[in-house]
Amino acid sequence: MARLADRRADGRFPPARKRFGQHFLEAAWVTKLVDAVRPHPDDTFLEIGPGRGALTRALAPRVGRILAVEIDRDLAASLEAEGVPNLQVVTADVLEVDLGALLESERLPARAIGNLPYNVASPILFRLLDAADEGRRLTDATVMLQKEVADRLAARPGDDAYGALAIQAALLADVERLLTLPPGAFRPPPKVMSAVVRLTFRPPVVDVGDRATFEKVVRGVFLQRRKTLANAFRPVAEAFGRSAAEVIDQAALNPRARPETLTVEEFGRLCRAVL
Ligand code: SAM
Repeated sequence: MARLADRRADGRFPPARKRFGQHFLEAAWVTKLVDAVRPHPDDTFLEIGPGRGALTRALAPRVGRILAVEIDRDLAASLEAEGVPNLQVVTADVLEVDLGALLESERLPARAIGNLPYNVASPILFRLLDAADEGRRLTDATVMLQKEVADRLAARPGDDAYGALAIQAALLADVERLLTLPPGAFRPPPKVMSAVVRLTFRPPVVDVGDRATFEKVVRGVFLQRRKTLANAFRPVAEAFGRSAAEVIDQAALNPRARPETLTVEEFGRLCRAVL
């Protein structure tokens, strides 16, 4: 019953839709999040998933313009109807829409914010890393995530949570944790803890040659994260028609190292050597 009540419409809005990962932020936390973003009157923001507009309404008076992309037609229409003067609502799936084209006529670089739908948070993060264009289109993104995903994103070499997500993010962004939130910060409350992370976009920290290869190498090696680099990398090297031992040697890496201890620079060397 309690869960049903949480998801019920409050009169102005339809009930929260599970399939869109809707967990709306409570007012006390909206202020904390918007303050953490340090908005500036000249800023243009891309907001992902404005929902019922909690963040949007708090941010709008403090920035130049907001472009908000919302997949839920009903919520997008309600927000649009409020007539916030510096807000444009775009009804679209952020995973489908061309963010470059959307931001083309905006004052760039813009910034991004979003209390992300947790079911598609990782693909949205990858879209943002791409769309940022090394900081030229987006300078930074402040995003609410499931805490476990935030841990994986902000992890450092040697941490338990360190893996493909941290390495791919570290290639193109500095990652900073800002806040941790309990389930009660949202209506309806999610089953997990949440955390806010800021990504500050920049050019790649290392030349990896080809980004698609880098992704294949990193993901492939982490499929066997507890093995030695020599063993974990063998299937990846073979897929490129190479010998793992030769490539590791060429990259000047220790074949007995564990993948989870390798820095983004070291993965960059491995990637260039395999090509
Ligand atoms: N920003 C609001 C808040 O903090 O209260 C809502 C956050 S809610 C966790 C996530 C929002 O993202 C929902 O409004 C949902 O409809 C929207 N959403 C889900 N998937 C989306 C997608 N693929 N593209 C754009 N918006 C999406």
